[in-house]
Amino acid sequence: MRTANLQGVDEFDFERAFARVSTWIDEYFSHPERYDVLPRVEPGSIEAQLPRSAPESGEPFDAILADFERVIVPGITHWNHPRFFAYFATSAAPAAIAAEALAAALDVKVMLWRTSPAAAELETVVMRWLGELMGLPPSWTGIIYDTASIAGFTALAAARESLGLDVREAGMSGRDLPALRIYATQHTHSHVEKAAIGLGIGLRNVVKVDCDASFRMSPAALEAAIERDLRAGLRPMAIVATVGTTSTTSVDPVEAIADIAQRHGIWLHVDAAYAGVAAILPEQRSLLHAVDRADSLVVNPHKWLFIPMDLSVLYLRDEATVRRAFTLVPEYLTTTDGDVRNYMDYGLQLGRRFRALKLWFVLRHMGVETMREKLRGHIALAQTFASLVAAESDWETLAPHPLSVVCFRYKPTGIDDEAELERLNAAILEAVNATGEMFISHTKIDGRYALRLAIGNLRTERSDVEAAWRILGDAAARVGMTMGSSA
Ligand code: PLP
Repeated sequence: MRTANLQGVDEFDFERAFARVSTWIDEYFSHPERYDVLPRVEPGSIEAQLPRSAPESGEPFDAILADFERVIVPGITHWNHPRFFAYFATSAAPAAIAAEALAAALDVKVMLWRTSPAAAELETVVMRWLGELMGLPPSWTGIIYDTASIAGFTALAAARESLGLDVREAGMSGRDLPALRIYATQHTHSHVEKAAIGLGIGLRNVVKVDCDASFRMSPAALEAAIERDLRAGLRPMAIVATVGTTSTTSVDPVEAIADIAQRHGIWLHVDAAYAGVAAILPEQRSLLHAVDRADSLVVNPHKWLFIPMDLSVLYLRDEATVRRAFTLVPEYLTTTDGDVRNYMDYGLQLGRRFRALKLWFVLRHMGVETMREKLRGHIALAQTFASLVAAESDWETLAPHPLSVVCFRYKPTGIDDEAELERLNAAILEAVNATGEMFISHTKIDGRYALRLAIGNLRTERSDVEAAWRILGDAAARVGMTMGSSA
């Protein structure tokens, strides 16, 4: 079927265009490993191939698609490559990709209930489904945001609102307010500091509470920090506990932290952006133990639940605080719809994408059992990799690895100097990533440079993990020789 002629633009043949696009996607997913994971391009080289200005007249779809293949694809970092092991590896379930096309076609803005009742109500339903799968209290409200950074910002804005300081009306400046304090750790994701910037809290007021030897927040240190602040006349605003920290996936002791939060009446936000969804596995339910005592929780289906970017969820014990922080209805958005949820009331954004559709498609098409199998598989693969590391005397793991991430390094006998180990491992990182056959990233753990391998891709298999280990070994041998180490 064809659309009507659109004001001089050529008729768009959806059937033909989508046939070409779906053939391309099909071929892409049948062999994502045919591409280098990390493209071999110089900065600016893609830009240099594109015209400086937009075309005045429309071009044929085929020509655009041809340029997509010629210019864009060679400059893509292939997150779908089964040996993409960097950051948090992710992948998109096929049904979600189809749902994204439908959502783009519908192009609704999920802001008021009436701007798309089905989109608004589907969001409520899938949030309930997901919350139930993770064992959250049924009374909690789930709201979809683009990213955990924005969901976390929203939670912290609610924490500030809960203090009753009238910041919404009076602002933060030109008045006598105590410094508001956020308690986190050095392992907390950096978006919390960005939220402190955005909310006028200030980076100086993000307190980095000490951790134990396994990189978990120390409740005793938290208590001490709060007491110290109270004595100094500062105002505790929020505690951020992390379930699955970015570097090592360590899990802060939420129950002990909740005790402290409760005793002092401080908002507790739990950032489970990566690891929270693993609670759909009965054997991992304990990850979210005591989270029902928090005020807010973030999980990211776009990280480890096969939903394409972007879909992050903020679960709230009491949604009223977020609404109090953000509800602002100009005349042109008032309605007579009555007791409905208008999603624009839950954050900064007005128009929102129809993100619930892709989660609904994937939950139904993949089924929860298959999702569980995949998550279990990822955890098992990470354990396989960790045992390969542990079996070699010249390599070591640098942190516990209970989930799908392993932090490790090359440490040949006789080299103990941290600076030298960093140079060696950074060179190994560059060497393995330059092969195009795999992609890993790095972090620092208590000042020690660590290579970091994360598994999260639907297509990653044992053979990929074994290949990664081989490539790392080869790189270490080459780098060791070049740098004149004993390797
Ligand atoms: N929280 C944690 C623990 C993370 O690891 C990350 C990203 O890796 C984020 C938050 C931010 O996620 P997003 O990219 O969705 O903002």
